[in-house]
Amino acid sequence: MTAGTGKRADGGSGAGAPRFDVPEVDAFTRPYWDAAAEGRLLLRRCRAAGCGAVHHYPREFCPSCWSEDVVWEQATGRATLYTWSVVHRNDLPPFGARVPYVAAVVELAEGPRMMTEIIDCPADALRIGMPLTVRFRRDGDGRRDGDGRRDGDGADGPGYAVPVFGPA
Ligand SMILES: [Zn+2]
Repeated sequence: MTAGTGKRADGGSGAGAPRFDVPEVDAFTRPYWDAAAEGRLLLRRCRAAGCGAVHHYPREFCPSCWSEDVVWEQATGRATLYTWSVVHRNDLPPFGARVPYVAAVVELAEGPRMMTEIIDCPADALRIGMPLTVRFRRDGDGRRDGDGRRDGDGADGPGYAVPVFGPA
């Protein structure tokens, strides 16, 4: 994409429209996104003696004891609903095409809380503490992939998946 062409940013669905839902993948977070693309949610677990804390979002050190002896570990994908908000307006593409949606914080079975989105549940059915399981939404384009299985990825997909949660 070139700058200074006078391209309008409000086209919304144009191929060159900026997006704000695409993860920034670097060498450190690549295992996380690679696993998500395979339908697995990874957490980080500290291996320091006497700690063992699990955290999310992924950091290179343990936020409990600052140890750098931290490894990736697959989460169960189970969580409970901690809090949520129904978003009716979001001008950042592509979220505007998704409203209303449910932005939420869930408490993972392993302990950490995670900011995410709740899908496949009417807003008036949401309850604090309700059991949830992770799903993976591909491409960030609003298409939902139910239980996270691959189902014919389009050749044009950028090849990442974002963890969201639905009723267990
Ligand atoms: Zn630790």
